Amino acid sequence: MKKLISIVVPCYNEEPALKPFYAAVNKVSQEMSDVVDFEFVFVDDGSRDGTLREIEQLRKTDERVRFVSFSRNFGKEAAILAGLDYAKGDYVATMDADLQDPPELLPAMYDAVKTGDYDCVATRRVNRDGEPPIRSFFARMFYRLINKMSKIEMVDGARDYRLMTRQMVDAIISMREYNRYSKGLFSFVGFKTKWIEYKNVQRVAGETHWSFWKLFVYAIDGICAFSTVPLVMAAVLGLVFCLLAFVMVIVIVVKTLLYGDPVGGWPSTICVILMVGGIQLLALGIIGEYLAKTYLETKHRPIYIIRRTEKDKN
Ligand code: UDP
Ligand code: MG
Repeated sequence: MKKLISIVVPCYNEEPALKPFYAAVNKVSQEMSDVVDFEFVFVDDGSRDGTLREIEQLRKTDERVRFVSFSRNFGKEAAILAGLDYAKGDYVATMDADLQDPPELLPAMYDAVKTGDYDCVATRRVNRDGEPPIRSFFARMFYRLINKMSKIEMVDGARDYRLMTRQMVDAIISMREYNRYSKGLFSFVGFKTKWIEYKNVQRVAGETHWSFWKLFVYAIDGICAFSTVPLVMAAVLGLVFCLLAFVMVIVIVVKTLLYGDPVGGWPSTICVILMVGGIQLLALGIIGEYLAKTYLETKHRPIYIIRRTEKDKN
């Protein structure tokens, strides 16, 4: 029996990229057709352009194309989860629609997992050409920070382009958390991962969906999802300030007893009040962030809602 590889593709407003993407992956699938079968699982993440139409057209010419279309934009993490839920393959690959993940790597990736030595082959880009330098700088800082704060290892430059065994996919989809940070989830489940490196490729069409602000929020989400160190930091800061206050009280009492009580030092008092107030708000904010995440998790809302799949007749 030939094994089946599912290619899971999250798509948000990728109308111009889909045809070249399909052509490129289809070419690779034909080269590999002696050893393995392919299926495509496109996840239309509530696109506003003709993405769904484009996918349905592909479906008409190729039975291997399957799709899930969301009722609105749920974000890339939700789209990947839906794709993994829906994929039937013995192996599942996740790939961006913009051809930034070179399909030519698929044969080598498949060779590595099929022997059973590895459960997953993941890719990382070794350079960040074509990206604003300031963004690369913050990205590097982020990986340094999160690796210090979290027990789970996050690899700098790791893409969401990977090929996994069914066993690993099942482990991932068993985690139904709402706040999904897939880089962390992939590394949380463990398994043996082989890393393949390649040079950054520019998007084939369309434009990136990540603004600097979105990436910043994503980074905070990642830290909150895989580390509770910020909470500890807030507590430690509070302790340090308590000790400081204690020492200052003693100093003031002794000084007053020795030298009387001359009034003064208002500006410094205000400074201290402002600083302590600020730190309290910061600590509250950190707690609030975790509370908010907990709040969202406890609602148990669905992570995505499907509007249409290839089985529905239109
Ligand atoms: N994407 C998605 N939902 C979103 C944003 C992005 O499914 O809300 C998909 C997008 O269509 C693409 C992939 O996620 O296939 C990566 O997005 P993009 O290329 O914008 O990210 P970058 O490669 O710039 O990090
Ligand atoms: Mg991209």
